[in-house]
Amino acid sequence: MSKIGVFPGSFDPLTKGHEAIIRKSLSVFDKIVVAVGVNSSKAYMFSLEKRMSHINELFKNDDQVEVQSFQKLTVDFCKDIGANHIVRGLRDSKDFQYEKPIAHMNFDLAGIDTVFFLTELKYNAISSSIIREIYKNNGSIEQFVTKPHLLV
Ligand code: ADP
Repeated sequence: MSKIGVFPGSFDPLTKGHEAIIRKSLSVFDKIVVAVGVNSSKAYMFSLEKRMSHINELFKNDDQVEVQSFQKLTVDFCKDIGANHIVRGLRDSKDFQYEKPIAHMNFDLAGIDTVFFLTELKYNAISSSIIREIYKNNGSIEQFVTKPHLLV
């Protein structure tokens, strides 16, 4: 039976930090499904299509990585595709504090465990929200996002 991990997020946009977490998780899982969340009450900077095609392009040579969108509880999405684990990245104790109750509730709801990977030190300060701010003000996001031209 293959081990499938779901890496859920907004990925608005997917950063080098996210990319490294996906590559790390491939050493543990047979397949990683990058699940791009669709939340109708959230305004995104980059369209769902662009966010997904960007991620697809970055992992086009990795058969173990698949990109899907989802608009339901993460655990329900996991069950739909036969995944027993959620993957999340941790930068600091703030990420951990935020993630901990969600991970407990996901386990209680559906018996789905969350596997955490620590971000690489060099990507520790990267966040999609700061990148959006830089982008909005015409700054270069090249050093934080691989192939950012694919997002526009
Ligand atoms: P969400 O919209 O669910 O808050 P994001 O798209 O911002 O999520 O991020 C998805 C996951 O990636 C989260 O687990 C988050 O902690 C993690 N993450 C965000 N930035 C980084 C980074 N620079 N390095 C490692 N993990 C990160």
